[in-house]
Amino acid sequence: MQPIFFDTHAHLDYPDFAQELPQVIERAQSAGISRIISIGTDIESSQRAVALSQQFTSVFAVVGWHPSYASNAPTDLRPALRELAKKPKVVALGETGLDYSRLPSRAKKQDDANADLQEQDALYKVKQAQIFAQHLEVASELGLNCVIHQRDALEDTLSHLQPYSTRVRGVFHCFANDESAMKRILELGSVVSFTGILTFKNGQNIRDTLAATPLKHFMLETDCPFLAPVPYRGKRCEPAYVKEIAEVAASIKGCPLEELSKATCATATEFFRGLF
Ligand SMILES: [Zn+2]
Repeated sequence: MQPIFFDTHAHLDYPDFAQELPQVIERAQSAGISRIISIGTDIESSQRAVALSQQFTSVFAVVGWHPSYASNAPTDLRPALRELAKKPKVVALGETGLDYSRLPSRAKKQDDANADLQEQDALYKVKQAQIFAQHLEVASELGLNCVIHQRDALEDTLSHLQPYSTRVRGVFHCFANDESAMKRILELGSVVSFTGILTFKNGQNIRDTLAATPLKHFMLETDCPFLAPVPYRGKRCEPAYVKEIAEVAASIKGCPLEELSKATCATATEFFRGLF
């Protein structure tokens, strides 16, 4: 029997899958990917994730608002989060967090930078921080954990999470930082999760981080439709490809696939409330 893995971060509600969702889920099953967690990126996307979890036994939902779209979020997202979190098969909140990689000033040419853009950057960061804090607050209220998206904003993300860390754990998804960042995350009781970047030729720094990450403190994910692992790199990604990611991860950890399967599935089952 082949080892079982979970895809702990997929965007099954994206239009990329609309034409053949039952086949996508079936291919995952045949590859041994027995659970898929579909992650919401705004209210409508979260509602679609919930609907998919009702439609497919192997699909579970995470509901929230992605930091990159924070500017469009309502001032108070908490009522919507509480409402969505009540639905069956909702196993965490997110994806939420901070992403400074597309600040308004960075989107413009360098010589356009002026005081106005600095102010826009500041507002953009404040809105992301508010929405992130609202996820953490509702998560702590409801006893749920958070799926965290962090890019170019590690320090701010950790300092937001820190006060909640006795009640809320985070999974730093699509983890791309180094060993010292990983250790600080684990110290807060949180975990990390690795994508197909592990298989990329230029992914040595991520492989080094995984090598240093204890077996019980990470999960695997595709982040599909993005980041297809080798040999599918550049194509649309899908949950079945966790298999390729797991094979590379097992060789980095120097452990049998069965052991990696047991550890990563246990970590996910413990992290996502109600995942079965
Ligand atoms: Zn995502």
